[in-house]
Amino acid sequence: MTNNRVYNFSAGPAVLPLEVLKTAQEEMLNYQNSGMSVMEMSHRSKTYDNIIKTAEKDLRELMNIPDNYKVLFLQGGAHLQFSMVPINLLKNGVADYIVTGQWAKKAYQEAQKYGKINKVATSEDKTFSYIPDCSDLDISPEADYVYICENNTIYGTKFNTLPNTKGKVLVSDMSSCFLSEPVDVTKYGLIYAGVQKNVGPAGVQIVIIREDLIREDLPAWCPTMLSYKTHADNDSLYNTPPAYGIYICGLVFKWLKKQGGLTAIKEYNEKKAKILYDFLDNSKLFKGTVEKSSRSLMNVPFVTGNEELDKKFIEEAKNNNLVQLKGHRSVGGMRASIYNAMPIEGVQALVDFMEKFEKENI
Ligand SMILES: *Cc1c(COP(=O)(O)O)cnc(C)c1O
Repeated sequence: MTNNRVYNFSAGPAVLPLEVLKTAQEEMLNYQNSGMSVMEMSHRSKTYDNIIKTAEKDLRELMNIPDNYKVLFLQGGAHLQFSMVPINLLKNGVADYIVTGQWAKKAYQEAQKYGKINKVATSEDKTFSYIPDCSDLDISPEADYVYICENNTIYGTKFNTLPNTKGKVLVSDMSSCFLSEPVDVTKYGLIYAGVQKNVGPAGVQIVIIREDLIREDLPAWCPTMLSYKTHADNDSLYNTPPAYGIYICGLVFKWLKKQGGLTAIKEYNEKKAKILYDFLDNSKLFKGTVEKSSRSLMNVPFVTGNEELDKKFIEEAKNNNLVQLKGHRSVGGMRASIYNAMPIEGVQALVDFMEKFEKENI
């Protein structure tokens, strides 16, 4: 490990590629001979314009985003999208939500303020430990969209097959799986992601929206800042954007391209996750909490079945430079988030430690 850095399994804000942090460090005081830091730079300057345009271009390349989709860099966290999505997309006033975890549930509850919002499927009966069968749901004929949280950060589940929306627009909260694997953008009307999980520092929200869903005829009460159109018409520069965060995202996009793009990163992510899941499947002490077919490549929750032992594990792991392994406060146990920037050596170190802990405590 370099510079006394630990293996950080935080669910977010989370680990970033060391290479990116080093570049940011090198460019901190004087960005490409501008004589200043990106933090100190006008967002209307030519230099900054190049930063945000290049970031968008690289993201479009990585995800193969078609020309009829806009890419927006916004603020307000994923939470603001819980409101912006219904405010902007409800025309008939009806939407169908699939509730597979805490974040989907919050989005579902927030949307209630703006229309008739249906829960068409849920996995709450088994503590969100699986993704329900969504091949033939009771989709409302007048639904403006169907909403999913694609990767459930807290519970460690992932839609490995997209729901059958019966022709309705699909909206996806991809916060914790964004850029972890290739996606077919054309299957979605809107994708959004808070970047602090897999892409960059907190404060940036990326929205990818099909142009025909950007409306002019929003309700008069809709705040200017909450209209996608405001941001789309101004290339995300209507007001001061989260400029430094976008710059870091841009560096991560470059890093991803250097790794070989999303197909290569998916292979790497699968390799990493396999090490951990294989261990869990064979362990006598630890076990995964998620149904196998619904497993996430990014967030891996597990337990010993004994709260005291969980606590001891988290404490001892920390003393071995394996940090942030505590599960979400709503579920307990442990959770290892193994995002793009977690090296395979980190996962191996975790499994080696789990093996040792198991021998000592069984
Ligand atoms: C973290 C997370 C959120 C909440 O993000 P904020 O930026 O804190 O609003 C929402 N959805 C998912 C899938 C997340 O992982």
